[in-house]
Amino acid sequence: MTPYSNADLHCHSTVSDGTLAPEVLAARAHANGVDLWALTDHDEVGGQQRALAAAQALGLAYLSGVEISVTFAGTTVHIVGLGFDPTDAQLVQGLAATRGGRLARARDMAAQLAAVGIEGAYEGALHFVGNPELVSRTHFARFLVDTGVCRDTSEVFRKYLTEGKPGYVPHRWAALGDAVRWITQAGGVAVVAHPARYRFTANEEFALFSEFQQHGGRAVEVVTGSHSAAEAARYADMARELGLAASRGSDFHSPDESHTDLGTLAPLPADLEPAWDLVAARIHTA
Ligand code: AMP
Ligand code: MN
Ligand code: MN
Ligand code: MN
Repeated sequence: MTPYSNADLHCHSTVSDGTLAPEVLAARAHANGVDLWALTDHDEVGGQQRALAAAQALGLAYLSGVEISVTFAGTTVHIVGLGFDPTDAQLVQGLAATRGGRLARARDMAAQLAAVGIEGAYEGALHFVGNPELVSRTHFARFLVDTGVCRDTSEVFRKYLTEGKPGYVPHRWAALGDAVRWITQAGGVAVVAHPARYRFTANEEFALFSEFQQHGGRAVEVVTGSHSAAEAARYADMARELGLAASRGSDFHSPDESHTDLGTLAPLPADLEPAWDLVAARIHTA
């Protein structure tokens, strides 16, 4: 058993679609009482060295992290990886391939937005990125708020960036088995991120979890900024039923946009096995 009582193992920096640098996030996590932290940028480990160095300077325990975009049954699913070797060649190549289509997708999104009268969205979104390979819908959302088209980013997603809306471009991300293998073969644990956010039928959700476990996945995010208390209880039951470990993470992106700050989540139910215990040997203690 590891001693951590305020683990926060899901957040984003300027290396993907967060607005704070890895060092600023480390300081914020530490100030908010986090005692085990992971930076989990989308499809990218380019911030890991900086996050680890900043955590160590603060005396904050650290696990490597990533959030991989996966396409499963036609839906985008996010798989968090924790405690892997961030220099693992197969993982690094897999992530590069997963990032690969983002610029072309962004051009298609901008063309669709131009068709409904919103010009300059490609350049506009790129203006907000810290890492051009990681241009995401979040950066388009920030552009549309900045130019006054919408009041906040959730209005942008509702009106423009979700399935059936004018700026939505379907995309094929990594395969579930590949993402789980990249993480586990690099020594880490794979975690189904924010499961309540997917619009699966019961059968599809069952298929997701069975395939995830068959590929070697071992944990599920139970307590996250994306879950209500009822949703956390539902996935705590799922963890018990399937014998999965449980993870905890705010999914913090920005002080202006995120409603759940680093280190402010409810505790994990005490009977669940913490996901970080599965990679205890890979925790960088301070
Ligand atoms: P992408 O990987 O480019 O499809 O962008 C996905 C990101 O968009 C997620 O990681 C969230 O940060 C953000 N996002 C998705 N849906 C919403 C929403 N409804 N409101 C605000 N942000 C969202
Ligand atoms: Mn994001
Ligand atoms: Mn996610
Ligand atoms: Mn996330």
